[in-house]
Amino acid sequence: LLMAYDPARRLARLQVRVEAAVTNARMLYEILDIEPHQRDVDGAKSLVTDNARIEFRDVTFSYGNGKPVLDRVSFVAEGGKTTALVGPSGAGKSTIINLIPRFYDPEGGSILIDGQDIAMVTKSSLREHLAYVSQQPYLFEGTIRDNIRYGRPDATDVQVEEAARLAYAHDFILAQPMGYDTPVGENGVTLSGGQRQRLSIARALVRNAPILLLDEATSALDTESEAFVQKALDTAMAGRTVIVIAHRLSTVVNADKIVVMHEGKVAEEGTHESLSARENGLYARLNNLQTVRTDI
Ligand code: ATP
Repeated sequence: LLMAYDPARRLARLQVRVEAAVTNARMLYEILDIEPHQRDVDGAKSLVTDNARIEFRDVTFSYGNGKPVLDRVSFVAEGGKTTALVGPSGAGKSTIINLIPRFYDPEGGSILIDGQDIAMVTKSSLREHLAYVSQQPYLFEGTIRDNIRYGRPDATDVQVEEAARLAYAHDFILAQPMGYDTPVGENGVTLSGGQRQRLSIARALVRNAPILLLDEATSALDTESEAFVQKALDTAMAGRTVIVIAHRLSTVVNADKIVVMHEGKVAEEGTHESLSARENGLYARLNNLQTVRTDI
């Protein structure tokens, strides 16, 4: 029991908390972070994808405080399809997303993309294949153009604009005082929640990555913004392998597959129809409780 108060243990716990903060920051930067100090395994190869099928195989994970967060999680996110993660708060949905860019590594089991264990490929090649759209898009000091280009530093102006058009952002950008050169961030113009979302989606689109990790917004935007954001997301999702932490009923209903998480385990999986039909199934109960938004 005394062990629990051991300073080394406390330090270890602190470490975990610091890492969590770093992870959130990295996620804010939409995955692009390049960490030269993080070494790949000897002989690591570049990830090569065909249709970017993602498989979790018996993945077990904890944040280092002994509390299991994922317990032998297995599921497949088919290439080019949308897989929705649903389940109560704390079930492990964000953790699943965190493991894909290898912010953390599983303690047991493996994660494969088109059959390649992501622990065995270079992190840079892994992350090149990923784009991330967060609930709370982050804009940093700089112009609108800079903020989109952050998704791919070598993108041309034409590619930046193309991404903005696809994200339904081009028109509102042109309406800003200096168009694409308008400063945003703390000292720049104020954009609405929906506009920020669309810039974040443009940033993801300019990467042109085959895998999209998406943490859907829980809070409602105004109706007009919502419609544009949804169209932008539909564009971003089309043809990509998408894993989405879903909060909107329409996303869940339209997903090719729903993985229902509960206390770190996959409780059930299927489509909206098949899961709704299960008497006493967790999904059917969650649905009845309307824990997912039904206002859209
Ligand atoms: P929510 O819907 O509330 O975001 P979730 O299903 O995404 O929940 P996770 O965020 O993956 O769940 O959390 C799973 C468990 O892991 C929770 O008990 C949570 O407290 C814990 N946890 C999450 N992140 C960390 C971290 N960085 N350090 C320690 N524990 C964490």
